[in-house]
Amino acid sequence: MSSTVGQVIKCKAAVAWEAGKPLVIEEVEVAPPQANEVRLKILFTSLCHTDVYFWEAKGQTPMFPRIFGHEAGGIVESVGEGVTELQPGDHVLPVFTGECGECRHCKSEESNMCDLLRINTDRGVMISDGKTRFSKNGQPIYHFVGTSTFSEYTVVHVGCVAKINPAAPLDKVCVLSCGICTGLGATLNVAKPPKGSSVAIFGLGAVGLAAAEGARIAGAARIIGVDLNSSRFEEAKKFGVNEFVNPKDHNKPVQEVIAELTDGGVDRSVECTGSIQAMISAFECVHDGWGVAVLVGVPNKDDAFKTHPVNFLNERTLKGTFYGNYKPRSDLPSVVEKYMNKELELEKFITHTVSFSEINKAFDYMLKGQSIRCIIRMED
Ligand code: NAD
Ligand code: ZN
Ligand code: ZN
Repeated sequence: MSSTVGQVIKCKAAVAWEAGKPLVIEEVEVAPPQANEVRLKILFTSLCHTDVYFWEAKGQTPMFPRIFGHEAGGIVESVGEGVTELQPGDHVLPVFTGECGECRHCKSEESNMCDLLRINTDRGVMISDGKTRFSKNGQPIYHFVGTSTFSEYTVVHVGCVAKINPAAPLDKVCVLSCGICTGLGATLNVAKPPKGSSVAIFGLGAVGLAAAEGARIAGAARIIGVDLNSSRFEEAKKFGVNEFVNPKDHNKPVQEVIAELTDGGVDRSVECTGSIQAMISAFECVHDGWGVAVLVGVPNKDDAFKTHPVNFLNERTLKGTFYGNYKPRSDLPSVVEKYMNKELELEKFITHTVSFSEINKAFDYMLKGQSIRCIIRMED
């Protein structure tokens, strides 16, 4: 047994002291895991837009000092009381939303929206005692979405930890903790395009590219990428996108452009933009009789979805999904296996790698729109 079990660990963490200010690598104290918690040694983490939004804290409640980070791969260092399904040494992916296994959602085959551990961006503490496990000189440092992976060690609820194949390279599969599974699952689990079908993907950021990867894996014949930024198109080709539409290049609604291209509409569409206009277009561009549209993007607070009800009567279906409908603990191991058996390609999502001391570079790449995923290596 490691000598750190039950002890406070001092380690490096990238602390956000103030909104929008560069993270500072600090020595922090990480308390041992309490009941139903595990302490993880993080080996690789990656940056997602959600970290950046909450770090900028423009529309969100500011909560600082805070340790961000929610896509990561690591190894269990120690487990708290009552934890039986994980042990020190297990290879794991922490996830921002959990699976308690007991609630109605966890018991439903259809849902992944756990009552107990569903994402909560306003909570900066552990649910068991309302306290943080991070501190510096006695000052508590807040958690982020229950994961806080920009730290060499972190404490996570056991329901937010997926145990995976120890042979899987953590520097690649760490990206499955959030964005990539969100897009991939939106297509594979929710849109379910038949082989040979046509799929429109709205928004070619990390999530949209993962949705396209899902369409490629499903064997879709036509994968139409829709983005306002044509510079996204070249990269998207690697993800199986084989046709492109920029709504700005046309003087009619993009749903009409797509209907003309596809003899009445696509079989499936997946919206990964967060734009309400794109959401409506994604729905209205599916074929009547069988078309299914899936919304993934997070809209603005005051947005409202407006379409004519006859679009539904004509047998179009509109769905939405959270985290690609994956249940973190039950389903992530099999997504990792998809990568291991070369069905799913992850390398093409990884555009940059930096060391932990250079973590602010990862923010720069994302803010400049240069990266899909930047991996942060915790050990030099
Ligand atoms: P991103 O900003 O990297 O990519 C979005 C892309 O959409 C950009 O390329 C942009 O040019 C394009 N776009 C914007 N408006 C458009 C429009 N009207 N028509 C066509 N293209 C348009 O974002 P991302 O990280 O890929 O995330 C995409 C969305 O998914 C965000 O809204 C994010 O909050 C959301 N998300 C949802 C979940 C979930 O579980 N539902 C999880 C993670 C992220
Ligand atoms: Zn649950
Ligand atoms: Zn994310």
